[in-house]
Amino acid sequence: MDLCRALGWLDDSNFIDSPQAATADLARFHDPLYINAVKAAERDGTLPDDAAQRHHIGVNGNPIFDGMFQRPATACGGGLLAARLLMSNQAKIIHAPGGGQHHGRSDRASGFCFFNEPALTILAMMEHGADRVFYLDLDAHHGDGVQDAFDDDDRVLTVSIHEAGRWPMARDGGGIGDVSDRAGGQARNLPVSAGFNDHELEYLMEAAVLPLLADFAPDAVYLQAGADALGDDPQSKLALSNLAIWRAVATVRDAAPRLLVAGGGGYNPYSVGRCWAGIWATLCGNAVPEALPHAAEACLRDVVWHHRLARNAPEHWFTTLADLPNAGPVRDEIKHLARITLATLES
Ligand SMILES: [Zn+2]
Repeated sequence: MDLCRALGWLDDSNFIDSPQAATADLARFHDPLYINAVKAAERDGTLPDDAAQRHHIGVNGNPIFDGMFQRPATACGGGLLAARLLMSNQAKIIHAPGGGQHHGRSDRASGFCFFNEPALTILAMMEHGADRVFYLDLDAHHGDGVQDAFDDDDRVLTVSIHEAGRWPMARDGGGIGDVSDRAGGQARNLPVSAGFNDHELEYLMEAAVLPLLADFAPDAVYLQAGADALGDDPQSKLALSNLAIWRAVATVRDAAPRLLVAGGGGYNPYSVGRCWAGIWATLCGNAVPEALPHAAEACLRDVVWHHRLARNAPEHWFTTLADLPNAGPVRDEIKHLARITLATLES
């Protein structure tokens, strides 16, 4: 948001603070016992062992940290407000980059996600009048929590493009996130392999995602735009440039009757900030400058990142918004994936 302000793209006319969701709002998806456990962990900085184990808090890679209730509850408040504004036609497109916690479960944390903002927001969209909601997940990890939240609800179609073989694919030894994983018949999964490039994402968007979207004819689209499929992200082996994400966002923008774009994963703060600022530019129709003005560059140089990749940070992480494109051939496996996804429509 600082970057967008520095570029003159954000001011009081197009920005609203996210309110913190109330406990009763969170309880529309989450178990009240779990909500109280997250609050207690924030208050006390620790949890009794049985509660920690039951709710996966402070264990399984879900840390206890300052603001661990307030921050995700505020992400959810933003999503719930967005759902209301979109469904009452007060806005057609909203970007809420604090949301997108797609692994969260009703009674436990998972994959750094404490509250499942996408699930809560999609439920709110339907409460506010949406008959059908299309969920597209571009994060490098499978959107398992959202898929499972709606696996018996034919009003929601979840589509996830993610890195094959990466966590959380192996739950219970089953093939969650596999192309054959349909989760009650609604979900579509498009696992892609290392090196996934810009042309391949564009191909999947045109040949698989857009036909699914057109066929489903949703009232609203929720786009989870995690930034960990970027080539500069250390958590995946996918190799997208941010141009590919922006193009995918533009494609969805043009096809969606109402659109909420959220955030998601992203473990290189420079590439996250540059990608999501560019998403905002894409949604607003703003031109992305070739060289960043001084104030915007200063925003990026102020970010501290303790990671081996930061030691030899390339200049373009500070001086530009757009990556160089990662063009490449569309591999046969990607064409096959699009074909079998389309076949599920025709059958
Ligand atoms: Zn992720």
